[in-house]
Amino acid sequence: MMNVTEVPAPSNSNSQQYLTDSSQVLLGLLTLSDNCVAHPRTTDDDTGDVIARPALTSLLSALHYRDVATVEHARRVAMLALGMASQIGWEDRELKVLEVAALLHDIGKIGVPDSILFKPSSLSPEEAELMSLHYYIANDVLQAYHVDPEVLEIVSQCHEHYDRVGYDSQRVGSDVHMGARILAVADAYDSLATEQVYRKAKPHDEIMQILMLGAGTQFDGNIICSLSRWVEDGRVPTGMHLNSKGLLPSEVSEREFRGDSENAGALCHIFAYLHLLENLYDGFYLMNSDQRFVVWNRRAEDLLGHRPHHMLNNVWSNKTLGYCNEKGKPLADKKCPLFQALAERKPVTTTLPVRHRSGELVEVEVQTVPLIDSEGILKGVAEIFRNTSRQGGKTQQYRELKEAASRDSLTQTANRGEMERQLEQTLAEATNGQTAETFCVIFIDADHFKSINDDFGHTVGDDVLVELAKLLQNETYSGELVARYGGEEFVVICPATDLDQGYKRAERLRIAVSKLKIADLKGRKLTASLGIAVNEPGDTVTDLLSRADKALYEAKGAGRNTTRAYANKELDIQCQLENAQKEAKEAEAFMYKGTFHAVIASDMLVYKLAGFVDDYQSKILEVTPERVVMRLGNRGVIPGWGNHDGRRPVTIEVVIGKEEVQEPGKTRARAKRVEILVTISPVGWIRKKDVFQHRAAGVFKDLKSYFIADMDLSP
Ligand code: GH3
Ligand code: MG
Ligand code: MG
Repeated sequence: MMNVTEVPAPSNSNSQQYLTDSSQVLLGLLTLSDNCVAHPRTTDDDTGDVIARPALTSLLSALHYRDVATVEHARRVAMLALGMASQIGWEDRELKVLEVAALLHDIGKIGVPDSILFKPSSLSPEEAELMSLHYYIANDVLQAYHVDPEVLEIVSQCHEHYDRVGYDSQRVGSDVHMGARILAVADAYDSLATEQVYRKAKPHDEIMQILMLGAGTQFDGNIICSLSRWVEDGRVPTGMHLNSKGLLPSEVSEREFRGDSENAGALCHIFAYLHLLENLYDGFYLMNSDQRFVVWNRRAEDLLGHRPHHMLNNVWSNKTLGYCNEKGKPLADKKCPLFQALAERKPVTTTLPVRHRSGELVEVEVQTVPLIDSEGILKGVAEIFRNTSRQGGKTQQYRELKEAASRDSLTQTANRGEMERQLEQTLAEATNGQTAETFCVIFIDADHFKSINDDFGHTVGDDVLVELAKLLQNETYSGELVARYGGEEFVVICPATDLDQGYKRAERLRIAVSKLKIADLKGRKLTASLGIAVNEPGDTVTDLLSRADKALYEAKGAGRNTTRAYANKELDIQCQLENAQKEAKEAEAFMYKGTFHAVIASDMLVYKLAGFVDDYQSKILEVTPERVVMRLGNRGVIPGWGNHDGRRPVTIEVVIGKEEVQEPGKTRARAKRVEILVTISPVGWIRKKDVFQHRAAGVFKDLKSYFIADMDLSP
């Protein structure tokens, strides 16, 4: 069984800079929690006493860093929720609480793995379950940040059904916080009004119909009715306006949440670890150096029955926790695993019964992890639970395997297997019309990466790969999946993208890579080559990937730090047509035309031509009474239009004009005068027009000499 201290903590770019193991990640969370106490909520700014301003900014910066689309969604939802709340007469503090809750309602998404958060197609039930852990993560972080309990209440209730809220599903209807009811409607409204990977944006009337279907179950019907009535009466909520895209904020605040990316990165790391904890364990809590509970997660609530308000800010005691001996008798505080771990200053794992709030005994495995900082000071303790009496469901090993199976351990992006699974699904959904028809696959390969390893060492090479992965994640949109294909190769799947857009997207990535500053590389630039392909009818995953790979190969061949697209079949045909027309035009410009008059009986002309064909080993391509087409020279010997004068292939078209009867008396015999039109054109590509003209003139002269010409009209 995996021990929590061995759970692979999501790695990050710089191993010295970022927290590396579980206890350090939890220590990081605890430090943030302590900082929020050091900078308590104040009333002198616009979030008032609801959340410390630096805490709000750093959380939103991290969300911005991870997924810009979610920050934008949160802002619109906040505007809509505030608008609705003002309509029903909410003021000041109530509005502030609601605004902060709306801005932070999706904050837990920071911790959701890329393969799910940016999945280009719809989520499987299992993935949806992993996605839904973001509610739990939000709860953990907001507790740690000492956010106003009302914000926590709103955020934790807004994702649940109006008729089934709470761990015991006891709170229904009016027990649900009014803010959560408003937020749930605003959240659903905005996501329906926004184009999603898996569906198109819907207009206002349709959104209202959909929301109405959930009235009384998922949503509070009164709120939907009020919203509908306001809009009908032209009383759009304050700060909003209605247009063809639905209700939109009249002005989106200019506030930027681009905090410093290093902090954002460290915070993302903590969130990712919380996702792991929420996924793999059945509960945990965090206690600070004052021995007070600062996080009591939802799973611990489910496992032991204590609600957060029973625990948070209370001093640790086994009277509240309820650890027991085998006989079910409560342990004295000093006999609890906590004291053993503190005495040994290292994590300990114990299996013991705990009394659930309802009185029932639950068998748990508890890992007690002392959180000790770099100076050896004990900052707090985490206890992580696993329910050993639980039967059925997915085993922990299974969940661990699932986690490990989809992530690349170095860069934390999706791995190749996961990418191929998702590509398969994206392809299927595009084919059967569930999503937009076209999507692109971009292959990205770092240039001369071997020399980076050679010059700076493998560890630096690894860090560069992590930086590159991070950059790709930052530069891609929500819904686009970044995966490590292997080695120094990455793949990005861009849903609902045609080749033209995909090419531009790839170019943006290429430029971003070339601008990436990596301290370890001491000024040396990293570049990458990119190949891109779009799906075609009848494609398999392999077809699509191999076209992107071919395009990448061309990009490498073109000198690297380059993007190449592999045109799909239709485009290919289009290209071929255009090329053929272009070639024809060019060929026309290079054509050599000449005319002479042969004084010869027309039936003799063929013999004369036959002599020429024989002597020059040319090939007859077409013969009619009016026209002979032949090829002179061999294309296969020297490909293209070489320097070898004698070998240059040309096509000769000889058109036999009208016979003219010679004026009587001028000649003794009534010889016939025939006009011969000769067109000589190059075969294949030619470099220099004058070289060709020279060659063609020679051919024309030779040909003419086979006839008796009385008047040279050639140019
Ligand atoms: P090109 O521009 O043609 O792509 O040249 P390249 O050197 O990048 O390509 P090549 O495929 O010859 O070499 C890839 C290198 O990437 C070789 C290998 O040492 C390095 N590499 C692959 N995986 C890792 C990894 O996980 N960490 C590190 N540090 N290097 C890796
Ligand atoms: Mg390679
Ligand atoms: Mg390479």
